[in-house]
Amino acid sequence: MKAAVFHKAGDIRYETMDDPRIEHSRDVILRITSTAICGSDLHIYDGFLPQLRNEVLGHEFMGIVEEVGSEVTNFKKGDRVVVPFTIACGKCFFCNHHLEMHCENSNPDVYGPDGGLLTEKGGGLFGYSDLYGGYNGGQAEYVRVPFADYGLRHVPEGLKDEQVLFLTDIFPTGWSSIEWGELKGGETVAIFGSGPVGLMAQKSAWLQGAGRVIAIDPLNYRLERARRVNNVETLNPHDVDVVEAIRSMTEGRGADVCVDAVGMEAERTVLDKAKAVFNLEKGTSAVLEQCFRAVRRGGIVTVVGVYGTPFDNYPLGRIFDKGLTVRYGQSQVHKNIDHLLNLVVEGKVVLDDIVSHVLPLTEISRGYEIFKKKEDDCTKVILKP
Ligand code: NAD
Ligand code: ZN
Ligand code: ZN
Repeated sequence: MKAAVFHKAGDIRYETMDDPRIEHSRDVILRITSTAICGSDLHIYDGFLPQLRNEVLGHEFMGIVEEVGSEVTNFKKGDRVVVPFTIACGKCFFCNHHLEMHCENSNPDVYGPDGGLLTEKGGGLFGYSDLYGGYNGGQAEYVRVPFADYGLRHVPEGLKDEQVLFLTDIFPTGWSSIEWGELKGGETVAIFGSGPVGLMAQKSAWLQGAGRVIAIDPLNYRLERARRVNNVETLNPHDVDVVEAIRSMTEGRGADVCVDAVGMEAERTVLDKAKAVFNLEKGTSAVLEQCFRAVRRGGIVTVVGVYGTPFDNYPLGRIFDKGLTVRYGQSQVHKNIDHLLNLVVEGKVVLDDIVSHVLPLTEISRGYEIFKKKEDDCTKVILKP
């Protein structure tokens, strides 16, 4: 088959490789019809997350079932499906608690050359390095999907790929970022980052009853799209002191919930322009610090932006003083995907209005470059094998 293969940071090639095959009775082989590039892929592409072996990236994909393992009962050849990005067995302690991102059976422990444990056992992810199980991902013509009965979801007829593709990751991720904020109705939610995940968090905030949604991003074209598709208020950190602005919009209290949908991204786009934003030596993220300052006392900060191990320092003093609740991690796709698919079917949410580029998979390198550099007003890239 043809696939987009990651070789090293900045080097992804469209090339021929062996077809995936059924390795376990719960596997299916999927022929991919659409796949996307995620902000999370950029962490590997930029070398923030080390991947030493060639691997097919891509954890947002959908397609047609091509072949099924002997234990798969809910799906057959020809079925059209979407696939959660977290690989989960559906049977272990964590899956039973809807913490599929920590599934005990999808990611074997990884040991370093000196024999030391490199990762604590967490769940596997498609196309997300050997630290997350070393599974090939979906930026390819075909992919092997383990535990198919627990992960795959049938796509109802009449829906285009673009309408449901983001159920794989970014819509559930945006949803989790708001769900963890425990809205009761009418709250002010400030969402840092208006990339694909931030845009999905904005949609989710309205659906979960927010009274006011404020989007923050240094890129005006992304704020413009946020206003257009999600009808939110916007702030650009290049124009205003974001924390002061949020406070003055909330009678001096701060937002009820702040969401970090930026993660390590801040380093790439903003560091050059505003050195203060990100401080690797200190091990803190300035975006996260802004969330802690912009949230009201007793409020909730949720973090879906990805941080790696250098970011282990933490403003405990401020968190204690303000009595904050903080929640973070990989999102809960399996828990929410059926409800979110219903919202799409019922027309209560539109997801494809964030797509800026649809490219053939052959143009994978260009796709990564424009998404990374935010060129050509790029918000989300979909690839067609
Ligand atoms: P993205 O890189 O397109 O979006 C990040 C956005 O943050 C950009 O629009 C950028 O301009 C903006 N930004 C940069 N500096 C900022 C600042 N100082 N203040 C406000 N905004 C700033 O990527 P994305 O696909 O939207 O992903 C965002 C993050 O979410 C990434 O870290 C990604 O890895 C993570 N993610 C997490 C999960 C999960 O399960 N937790 C799932 C998907 C993605
Ligand atoms: Zn993703
Ligand atoms: Zn499990």
